[in-house]
Amino acid sequence: MHIERIDTFPLFYRLPKPYGDANGIKKYRVCYLIRITSSEGIEGWGECADWLPTLHLGFQERIIPYLLGKSVYERKKIVTTVHKWHSRAAAAVDMALTELAAKRAGLTVCELWGGAYRESVPVYASFQSYSEDPEWPKQSLLAVEEAAKDGFTRMKLKIGGKSISDDQKHINKVQGLLEQKVELALDANQSYDLPAAMEWNALLNAWPNIMWLEEPLEVKHVAEYALLRSRMCVPLAGGENVKASVDYIPILTEHAFDFLTPDPMHMESLDDYRHSLQLARDFGLRATPHDYDGVLARLYSLFAQACLPPWSKMESNSIEPVEWDVMDNPFTSLIPVSPCQGEVRIPQGAGIGVEIDLDMLQHYRWDGNSY
Ligand code: MG
Repeated sequence: MHIERIDTFPLFYRLPKPYGDANGIKKYRVCYLIRITSSEGIEGWGECADWLPTLHLGFQERIIPYLLGKSVYERKKIVTTVHKWHSRAAAAVDMALTELAAKRAGLTVCELWGGAYRESVPVYASFQSYSEDPEWPKQSLLAVEEAAKDGFTRMKLKIGGKSISDDQKHINKVQGLLEQKVELALDANQSYDLPAAMEWNALLNAWPNIMWLEEPLEVKHVAEYALLRSRMCVPLAGGENVKASVDYIPILTEHAFDFLTPDPMHMESLDDYRHSLQLARDFGLRATPHDYDGVLARLYSLFAQACLPPWSKMESNSIEPVEWDVMDNPFTSLIPVSPCQGEVRIPQGAGIGVEIDLDMLQHYRWDGNSY
């Protein structure tokens, strides 16, 4: 079975109300999907994330000509080559060839990977807490209230983009609203140094519902993380931009984090992504995937989490949650999979087990202009 056709779907959505985090305010959301069709007429979908003009040119000029006629079963060799040219594009090719192999064998992706430990995986509602509006805390509280009504039992809010006192006021209000019935993660996007991060310790110590504090320091400061971890009263999480599982080794051997947060679209390959999850287990740690920019990638994170051995023998708490974007982003609806009471049931059909909304692909197709 060889690769006969590749279609690309660059998608663009301008946000009517921009939002953001400590890294800045986002004015748009993008998504890049590919569909590989085999000589037997089987289709496999993939997703990657980057600047659309770069991705699109890379696929049209170099990656598609290279892929045409290749065997569907040479996934590792193909992905390694594409990764050398365009690391981000490789993720899409990897997913599409994985799905093709699974469908050809009549298997789900989880079955292809050796089978799932569980039928559903928890997710957490992920927010971008800031906007350009001076009333951003009010808007954030409304969004949090909405997610709680939707049944989310875990949430992640942003800190680090405003003064510590403004952020603490905001999170205090959120805690008051939720009455600490929802588990919370706080993500500082590498905004602090160690003393600034420690300014959160007393508050965090008073809250029993904190899942983790994410990337309070620059991730390259591994020794500072180890020191912070020994002083901080809550677990530390990080590593969403790590590109290869081997790069987690210093973090693991220096005991810098409690949770690894790999992203399937940022890593060398799906195999390497799954290896990083297993590496966390091998070092006695937890892993909660970063999936902010992905919809199909998020589904692959759910598959990988379903196939990951439990971190705990406690039945209700045996697997770590996957990030679930709850902001204004139409691309999160491209795949008909949504959480119920904070859990997502793993689709059971061959391949990814669900159909992508083709009408949406037409509607949001990027017009090719710079943005
Ligand atoms: Mg983060």
